[in-house]
Amino acid sequence: MKITVIGAGYVGLVTAACLAEMGNSVVGLDVDEARVAGLQRAEMPIHEPGLADLVARNLAAGRLRFDTDAAAAVAHGSIVFIAVGTPSAEDGSADLRHVLAAASSIGRYMNDYKVVVNKSTVPVGSAERVRGVIASELHQRAAVLPFSVVSNPEFLKEGAAVDDFMSPDRVIVGADDDRAMYMLRSLYAPFLRNRDRLLTMDARSAELTKYAANAMLALRISFMNEMALLADAVGADVEQVRQGVGSDPRIGTHFLYAGCGWGGSCFPKDVKALAHLGHTHGVGSQLLDATLAVNDRQRQLLAARVVQRFGPDLRGRRFAVWGLAFKPGTDDVREAPSRVLIEELLARGAEVAGYDPIAMASAAARWPDLSGLQYAPDPYAAARGADALLVVTEWREFRSPDFERLRAAMAQPIVYDGRNLYDPATVRALGFEHVGIGRGTAP
Ligand code: NAD
Repeated sequence: MKITVIGAGYVGLVTAACLAEMGNSVVGLDVDEARVAGLQRAEMPIHEPGLADLVARNLAAGRLRFDTDAAAAVAHGSIVFIAVGTPSAEDGSADLRHVLAAASSIGRYMNDYKVVVNKSTVPVGSAERVRGVIASELHQRAAVLPFSVVSNPEFLKEGAAVDDFMSPDRVIVGADDDRAMYMLRSLYAPFLRNRDRLLTMDARSAELTKYAANAMLALRISFMNEMALLADAVGADVEQVRQGVGSDPRIGTHFLYAGCGWGGSCFPKDVKALAHLGHTHGVGSQLLDATLAVNDRQRQLLAARVVQRFGPDLRGRRFAVWGLAFKPGTDDVREAPSRVLIEELLARGAEVAGYDPIAMASAAARWPDLSGLQYAPDPYAAARGADALLVVTEWREFRSPDFERLRAAMAQPIVYDGRNLYDPATVRALGFEHVGIGRGTAP
């Protein structure tokens, strides 16, 4: 099939490459000229395991192209995906500017039947808005052309995006017409050979499903973070509580890890957008508001504990931060908890040295305002002379560090374990002060 994917970010680029891998002819369209020029030379704008090989192979095979020319790109695909960003607007709602701009390009340049597939995460009713924009562009051109708009929210996880796209838990298609549904079923069939998990529903339900799924995951973490604060207060260990709770199959083990807060390009903006959607429809959600509030407090927790230990004036102090990405496996630092912590430490006059295996370049590019942040070449260099180490992202390479080397490098052997990676007793036996999240020992 001929496919166009508008937006070559985490979702669009993975979608384009995986569809090309299955033999489709795919054009990826992006407004970012530097990104497109790089992709034409098989240079990756993002880090995602397995993606570089996939892109290079399909470029070489001629099944995948990248373009900034909207007219040519839109003309190419009989299925046109919209996979552009939907950031938070000031009031917490989803900013649909990019989605509607993509819809308008489609209306302006389409020349035959198109199935327009909205893969961006968008509020309920967006399929109708996209349909309206395309219809109005066609009207201005005095063109009468058939098209369908389908909601197909994406559930891939950064850090495992290629695997998730290739073997999805489920594919959700919200469509009101049979022709579009048939085309999407055919497109996704190769990805669902081993388990047919294509769920069909109306577009509004598909749109709401995506937000509900992300909100549920965020809520579970916020709930456990609240349990962690309680565990610290009453002298219980949230790690043991997690195992006890997660062993109930009705609850399951996923997304129960207490830590220094969740972040990323999806949870914060999606929970806010869902809460906003509820408020605008008179169905304000106390649960969603609390999920966000608990997370805001949790993201301040490490800095608050540092202040409790070292006092409010951190001039002359030095801290090491391990992990800048919002989670392991990605270079994405959008809404990362590390940023909240580093900002606070720097504002209080501390020196901060950060280390991340993948995300230092993207942090430097995205956080030009954090000019005080020093980037260390390795984790031990970050720890050199530090009054404390703060572990913020659970990268594998942080799980079993050389504690002796670490202690020798640091000015004071104090570990703030923001992801509960270490057994407190073991780390203490190695001569460290250990402060976890909900391990029953926090000051
Ligand atoms: P991103 O910021 O990584 O990429 C978006 C891309 O779209 C950018 O390269 C940008 O230049 C391009 N773009 C913007 N406007 C354009 C236009 N009019 N025409 C062509 N290109 C345009 O975003 P992302 O992380 O891939 O997210 C895209 C959507 O998918 C969002 O709605 C997000 O919520 C959703 N989503 C993201 C993830 C994730 O893990 N990142 C997972 C599921 C769903």
